Amino acid sequence: MENGLISVDRWSEGSQIYFLTHLHSDHTKGLSSQWSKGPLFCSRLTAKLFPFKFPKFNLSLLRVLEIGLWHSISLISPSSGSRKVIKVMAIDAHHCPGAVMLLFRGDFGCLLYTGDFRWEMSSERANEGRITLLNALEDDTVDILYLDNTYCNPSYAFPSRQIAAQQIVDIITSHPEHDIIIGIDSLGKEDLLLHISRMLELKVWVWPERLQTMHLLGFNDGFTTKTNLTRVRAVPRYSFSIDTLEGLNQMRPTIGIMPSGLPWVVRSHEGDDILSGSLLTTRYNRSKLNENGDVLIEKQIGKVELVNKLHKYIFSVPYSDHACFSEIQEFIKLVRPTTIKGIVSSSSCYVEPLYYFGRLCGAKQPVKKFHHKEKRRGKVEKDVDINFVNLEKSRVKGTNVGILNVGVRLGRVNALRRVQRGARLAEDDCPG
Ligand SMILES: [Zn+2]
Repeated sequence: MENGLISVDRWSEGSQIYFLTHLHSDHTKGLSSQWSKGPLFCSRLTAKLFPFKFPKFNLSLLRVLEIGLWHSISLISPSSGSRKVIKVMAIDAHHCPGAVMLLFRGDFGCLLYTGDFRWEMSSERANEGRITLLNALEDDTVDILYLDNTYCNPSYAFPSRQIAAQQIVDIITSHPEHDIIIGIDSLGKEDLLLHISRMLELKVWVWPERLQTMHLLGFNDGFTTKTNLTRVRAVPRYSFSIDTLEGLNQMRPTIGIMPSGLPWVVRSHEGDDILSGSLLTTRYNRSKLNENGDVLIEKQIGKVELVNKLHKYIFSVPYSDHACFSEIQEFIKLVRPTTIKGIVSSSSCYVEPLYYFGRLCGAKQPVKKFHHKEKRRGKVEKDVDINFVNLEKSRVKGTNVGILNVGVRLGRVNALRRVQRGARLAEDDCPG
């Protein structure tokens, strides 16, 4: 693909069409109500939510991609002026409402951009996504997989959201006299809140804008903006901090629950046995790698690492909207791309996906654990142009080198450090 055609989750000048995978803020940096650089393609649900996030946006720029269908788009080659047709399919990413992966086909080959995604093997919805993807690929090979590598490390082993949601319900029920606050973002984790509401037969408080979003998404029951109706409140992640919890405990006994796949550090508190009952004996899966790099699943029983206690008032539960390591592995085994590029760059723990998964790819890959360091510019989120590498499989005679503009962002390890210090988390961090 030549330069100047397509941007994905990147909003600077220079492309003919733009794609948005989902509405989390770290994918919309540079997008605003005034943005008007070209047609913007997104899922139907994202289009529905779009005016809520960007109230004065020129909606005539939005183009809806129906999930599971191929869309053909005509573009003009900037170099030759000739017509080029690309095909694109949106596939459910199981991340947050409206989130999609994007599968591109054209004379440049076949590219799959996961955006942020989850790939639970246990859910029917994921199974549908798998069938859609396999049908779309047919016998074709993905030349480049742009991968959500947020948890591309074997140490990131966590259970399905269904299991983690139950863990959260367990924590709440084991604190019957406490108020509960749960840190969430402006989009995502609706199913978790709904599960809590249904299991505990109570309404969950959300802030007024969040209630509007819930209603837009069709969640009309189970939520309220009246604090006196419930002891469970879902609060913006940026307002969830140790300081907040300590302040709240001056008034009423309160615990905080942070749903995130981040590996929280367990800290013991002497004489403190709030972690008790079923939580301490819950089974969980912990993964290890064998010498071939395959993840082995090992059942463990005992003191639970699944539910971590960050602070005497704060629990973290690995309820994540991103794929854990074993899911990434399963996804790559399914797709068998020629090469992989991570879309998340982190200041301290970035691992080149090919380090773990190069052997699953079609092409011979270098095994290099760390990279992108040279591209970092401090702690700010940034976009990076990713150059297409020379693909072993070339669909067209001549060059197969080009540029797809994609957003690459920093991971959330720094955010973790901030919360461990009790500071507020920035809302812009994509939720775990
Ligand atoms: Zn996201």
